[in-house]
This record gives sequence, C-alpha cells and structure tokens, in this order.
Amino acid sequence: MKLSMNKKDSISLVNRDLASIWHPCTQMKDHEHIPLIPIKKGKGVWLYDYDNRKYIDAISSWWVNLFGHSNEYINKKISQQLESLEHILLAGFSHEPAISLAERLIKLSPKKINKCFFIDNGSSAIDASMKMSYHYWKNVGFKGKNNFIALSNSYHGETLGSLSISNIDLYKKTYNKMLKNTIIVPSPDSFNKKSDVSDKEHSKKMFAFMQKEIERNHKKICAVVIEPLVQCAGYMRMYHPIYLKLLREVCDRYNVHLIADEIAVGFGRTGSMFGYEQAKITPDIICLSKGITGGYMALSTILTKDSIYDAFYDEYTKLNAFLHSHSYSGNAIACAAANATLDLFERTDVLGKNRRKADYIYKNFSSFKSHPNVGDLRQTGMITALELVKDKKTKKPYDWKERRGIRAYKYGLENNVILRPLGNVIYFMPPYVINKKEIDHVSNVIEGAIEVATKQIT
Ligand SMILES: *Cc1c(COP(=O)(O)O)cnc(C)c1O
Repeated sequence: MKLSMNKKDSISLVNRDLASIWHPCTQMKDHEHIPLIPIKKGKGVWLYDYDNRKYIDAISSWWVNLFGHSNEYINKKISQQLESLEHILLAGFSHEPAISLAERLIKLSPKKINKCFFIDNGSSAIDASMKMSYHYWKNVGFKGKNNFIALSNSYHGETLGSLSISNIDLYKKTYNKMLKNTIIVPSPDSFNKKSDVSDKEHSKKMFAFMQKEIERNHKKICAVVIEPLVQCAGYMRMYHPIYLKLLREVCDRYNVHLIADEIAVGFGRTGSMFGYEQAKITPDIICLSKGITGGYMALSTILTKDSIYDAFYDEYTKLNAFLHSHSYSGNAIACAAANATLDLFERTDVLGKNRRKADYIYKNFSSFKSHPNVGDLRQTGMITALELVKDKKTKKPYDWKERRGIRAYKYGLENNVILRPLGNVIYFMPPYVINKKEIDHVSNVIEGAIEVATKQIT
C-alpha cells in the first residue's frame, strides 16, 4: 500500500527524532509502545499532526498556553517586535518591551511589590529567588539563615536549587545526595482530609505543622517557598487560601520570607489573576513564568518589595549587589509576547469568562464523582482534576507500576484529546479560548478514559 505523503512524513520525522532527540521527562524506551507524535501546526486549542489527525490540547502544553496556539494577536505583536529588536543584554542596557512589562506586572501586584527581576525559565526563577532571599538576610545582618521550608508533595522545578526544595520522589529521590537539605512540612491539601471537615478547617489544622517548624527554626530559615492553592505537578492537589493567610502572619512575626511560586498558577489559572490574591496577602517574592508569554517563549520574572531591593543597593565595593544573570534575561521577543498576553487580559473579561467556563466544566464532570474508582473530583478555577483510586472508601491508590494513567493517555490520543495524567490523576487545564463544544468533547473522552484506565488488569 502506498502511504500518503503525510504518513510518510510522519514516520520519517519520528525516526529522525528518536535517532537524535532525548526528550524531557521521558523514559525513552516507552516510545517502543507509546507513539511519539510530530505536530505540524497548532490553531486555538487544536494541534494537528502529519496523519491528518487533530488533538485538543487539554493540558495547555504543560500549562503554558493561555489564549490558544498561533494566536493572531500575539503573532502580530511578535512580528512587529522582530522588525526592531530581537535581543540584547539586560545589564547596562534596556528596551521598551521589558520596561513596559515590568511596569505592568508591578501594577498587577500588591502595592508593596515594586521591582521586577528578569530571568528566562521557571526553575531558574526559583533558584534566583532562593539566592535573593538568602543574600538579603546576609546583607541586613541576620547570620545563620541558610535553609528553606517547603511543603510535602511540592514541585518547584528541576535545577539543583529548585529540586532541593521540591518533594516529589519520582523527580528527586535519585539525586538526593546532590541536593541541599530542606525542611519539609506536611501539605495542607484536602485529599486526605476527613469528609466531615471543611477544606478551610483542614488547612487551618495542617498549618500547626508549619507554625511549629517556623517557631523552632526561624533563625535558620530564609524563606518558605510555596505554590499558592494548587500543587500542580504534585498531582493537582488543592488547599484552602486560609493557609497562605496564616503563613503570612507567622512569616512576618519571625522574619521569614514568603516566596510565592506562581509559575503554574499565575495568570488566571486559579480563578484570580494570581493565586495569592485569594488570601489577600503580599508575598515577599513572586515567581512568574509559564503563562507569562501566553505559551510562546521561555521567560520568567521575580517580583519583589522595595525593602528587599534596597538591601542590595549600596556602594559597589561593599559587594552587596545581586550578581545573578542569565544570557537571555528579559529577551525582547519574549517580553513582546508577554505584553501581548497582558493586552488580551485587558481587552476582555478573561477571568469572568473563565468563571463561567469552569462552572460548566465542573457540571460536566460531576457525574464522574459516583464512579467506583474516582476517589476525588476537585477544581480551583480553570484547573479540574480527578483522582483514580483502587478503593474509593479508603482512597487506596492503584499500584504505580500498573501505570493506569498511560492507558488514559493513549485513549485520549485515539479520541483527539491530549490528556497527560499525572500518575493516577486525570486533569483538565485547557487554554482559556476553549469553547463549550470542545469542553463537551473533552468531558466525553475523559469519561471513556476513566473506564479504560480503571478496567481490571487480567
Ligand atoms: C513548571 C514549574 C516550575 C519550573 O518551571 P520551568 O520553566 O519548567 O523550569 C516551577 N514551579 C512550578 C510550580 C511549576 O509548575
């Protein structure tokens, strides 16, 4: 049989790829049975391959895409930027896209946040925020602060610094001996709470562990680093905003920074522009990336208070400056994409529309709750997740070696949806431009995926 031109293209691309590319977060041997899919083009929520198949990007390409692939407006703004300047060093020089972006991000943040430091990816932003906090305490004369607190099941990135304060064994355990010790405090997430306890009460109760750790160790602690409201890579586990409010109070009392890792949840994912807003707090440092460019380019920033900035502002010879840099810090094209993304937030009531979409998604999914192997259905804003369990009553998980999520993944691909479960958690985190019909399609496919993933293994 003569293969179509497209099919031939696709096979040849897969062969070339597997001969030369080592993919992120992948056991490459899996591609002996899991298809690798070259994508030819993207438009809106849809991705198109070379076999004339299309897929809804139900996970926003690892949570970066906000306004669809190949967004006309962002495309136009990037093209315009290309006509004048692509990139320059950001030390000693500046450019309008970076200046505008810094001003706009500062305007979106709490009153006391007035400075923006540019980096170029999420993990490096976390590393830089850790260095900044540590260095701050040195500059202001607090000796002995050299440790950090993070939550169990947290994820802050893959570089050695950010991995040190993460707590997912799958990504961390192998490297433990290379990493810096971190104090890990039990997460307040609601999954294991008793059913007669509210999320709020549960988060309050769990805060006791954090409070004890800060009280006992604050002289050694630079900062608590935390993902506001949703531990995304940590299986989309969610907790109540009261936890952040209590954390702010105790951090203030004991001279400990609160670093908000908004890399995944920022830019509207949790229903508010930023997750910390729901606790009405001002973090000391805010890390942003992922959605910041609408899913177009690598860019990250950390936003911080004048009081932190001022502690570095000194005569050069005192050597108090923050001498941290990345070659592509504040890249002009990435800043143009980020400014275009903020334009899109300003032009329409994105968060209001998302609220209605989130309600619609939850309504569509609510029937899944009664499935005998769905242990939990949870939603925060535009993040909806369901957790497959072996035993609904005890919430006992499936053996991870059964890899049930992979079955859901394959089923999704066969039915035009990219689901990429985290272990046994199937989640839906679409670009904001998704419409009702597309949500309906994803809902139907998830319904089927639950069946396929929970089928008895014979
Ligand atoms: C993705 C992520 C990071 C790391 O960002 P990268 O750009 O992938 O290095 C850090 N923190 C959180 C919460 C994330 O989701």
